[in-house]
Amino acid sequence: MNYNKKTVKDIDVKGKKVLLRCDFNVPMAKDGSGVITDDKRIRAALPTIQYLLDQGAAVIACSHMGKPKGQVVPELSLKPVAARLSELLGKQVIMAADVVGPDAQSKAAALQPGQIMLLENTRFEAGETKNDPALAKAMADMAQIYVSDAFGAVHRAHASTAGVADYLPAVSGFLIQKELEVIGGALAAPKRPLVAILGGSKVSSKIGVINNLLEIADTIIIGGGMAYTFSAAEGGKVGNSLLESDWMDYSKEMVKKAADKGVKLLLPVDTVCGDKFAPDANIQVVEAGQIPDGWEGLDIGPKTVKLYCDAVADAGTVIWNGPMGVFEFPAFAKGTEAVAEALSKTNAITIIGGGDSAAAVQQLGYADKMTHISTGGGASLEFMEGKELPGVACLLDA
Ligand code: ADP
Ligand code: MG
Repeated sequence: MNYNKKTVKDIDVKGKKVLLRCDFNVPMAKDGSGVITDDKRIRAALPTIQYLLDQGAAVIACSHMGKPKGQVVPELSLKPVAARLSELLGKQVIMAADVVGPDAQSKAAALQPGQIMLLENTRFEAGETKNDPALAKAMADMAQIYVSDAFGAVHRAHASTAGVADYLPAVSGFLIQKELEVIGGALAAPKRPLVAILGGSKVSSKIGVINNLLEIADTIIIGGGMAYTFSAAEGGKVGNSLLESDWMDYSKEMVKKAADKGVKLLLPVDTVCGDKFAPDANIQVVEAGQIPDGWEGLDIGPKTVKLYCDAVADAGTVIWNGPMGVFEFPAFAKGTEAVAEALSKTNAITIIGGGDSAAAVQQLGYADKMTHISTGGGASLEFMEGKELPGVACLLDA
């Protein structure tokens, strides 16, 4: 896939209507009060919005929220987003009552340069997730340029993330541009040695990433729940640890493939076990492959921490996807925290992909020490798998 795409800076937006796809899929209070519990994604969209307004564009912003499945679900209205965005911009955001209906159409037609409006939740339209050309065209018809800045949605070929680009010149906003530059750069021409740290819960959800990074990386580090499938495949005792027995053969193959390719593959040498999956579990540290019956591995052990931290110390680039343990329980967050700290100290380019990994780095307080924390969970995973992202492929090549 070509990651070198035109950006908002490569196109003249002055006096034009710009359809801007944002990721305003923000968490809302469960009580239906319309309170946004974390506005990070709205803040992240500000640089592109501000740039477009400053350049004299009229901005028609759009986003999905939740899964209304083609129905109008009032609790999933973007009205609270419009209110918050107004506060952050210090400027009124005109809210449309629909996506491509009469209200959106007339408000879009009347929109002046320097003004911004927000369409209703794109998934209120059944055609959104089906990438219906009629919906894409109706959205495109309101504008003259399409700017995509919803990295979290680029792995989906929906009407507002990809379809509209069939009808309008399409470029990236600053958020997507940075994702393409940093992650795309690390995959295409990494500063070496490239160390990939892979963890999280399951081997099965990370196969594509392991496969792709085996072709690119110099060192692959395995941690988290998936390490026990590798351990069991070598005949280790894993007790009640997460185990995907269907993937044991695959794990063996990966170890062999790494050896054949000269990729260094590091597996845990010790593990922190609990006697139950709970924050207050009793704890013991054992050698890898020697987990007693009734116990389960919930974090990498201290020797493994040292091994992994040494491996990233002189890296040129580190790509990290998947926590080293159940970091949500403080007793089992040490491995993840130590790796985050090691990353904060290297001179390497450090890239965090994956929703839980990003949350872990934030929660542990290392977010501002990383080169890049991807704003897209699923999208960054598919990016690292080397898959074509429809929402990126549809943009104009630079
Ligand atoms: P990401 O979202 O960054 O791609 P994943 O979704 O693959 O990461 O995995 C994150 C989850 O993996 C976390 O909720 C964490 O608790 C869990 N996890 C990590 N290590 C273990 C383990 N040893 N046993 C069970 N779950 C684990
Ligand atoms: Mg996850």
